Amino acid sequence: MSDVTARLRALLDRIDTACQDHQRQPGSVTLLAVSKTKPVEAIAAAADAGQKCFGENYVQEAVDKIQQLSDLGLEWHFIGPIQSNKTRLLAEHFDWVQSVDRIKIANRLSEQRPSHITPLNICIQVNISDEPQKAGISLQALPELAKQVSELPNVVLRGVMAIPANVTGFEAQRAQFHRLKLAFEDLKSSYPTIDTLSMGMSGDLEAAVAEGATMVRVGTAIFGARAPRQ
Ligand SMILES: *Cc1c(COP(=O)(O)O)cnc(C)c1O
Repeated sequence: MSDVTARLRALLDRIDTACQDHQRQPGSVTLLAVSKTKPVEAIAAAADAGQKCFGENYVQEAVDKIQQLSDLGLEWHFIGPIQSNKTRLLAEHFDWVQSVDRIKIANRLSEQRPSHITPLNICIQVNISDEPQKAGISLQALPELAKQVSELPNVVLRGVMAIPANVTGFEAQRAQFHRLKLAFEDLKSSYPTIDTLSMGMSGDLEAAVAEGATMVRVGTAIFGARAPRQ
């Protein structure tokens, strides 16, 4: 068994345990394997072990991998910062974009989504901890952006994503995720396409599952540490 396979299994066990501990249905939390900077061989090993959804942060690197692995039927999520001159590549190659935080980007993704493929799934990234240096729209501005995105023809509004401030302690982590959960429930009651609450990473996935995360995003715990990016 490869390292990737063993670590993936351990992580899936961890997610299962969190579901049991917090009265969540088994299988109600999707694992997004974050494969940024990792080679296609590592992704293929995870796919071979049954992993379907992969997250990437750098557009050109991701497109190269998507093309090389196109036979595997994987689902690709973009989770990194978005420059407006890169939206066409996102619209043409990805299944999901989880880091949309302004209408200009959403408009371009909808316009550039090729008509022969299914609409692009979108999550709005929210800056739940109000950190000035972090991407994401404020909770206050979220309802207006959600309304605008929901009206676009070639994208589907699926939910919200956040990377909270790095705090320690289960209760403190949980309090941050609770803010996003409330916003998610609110939007869900207005938009029937919303079903995705993307929050929780290696260090805080139990708190995220406790607060209702439907997708957790984990890289290092599956693929090992990343070298610093040049
Ligand atoms: C890199 C990244 C992750 C995964 O982080 P790890 O520390 O490798 O588990 C999750 N979400 C986002 C948005 C990321 O950029």
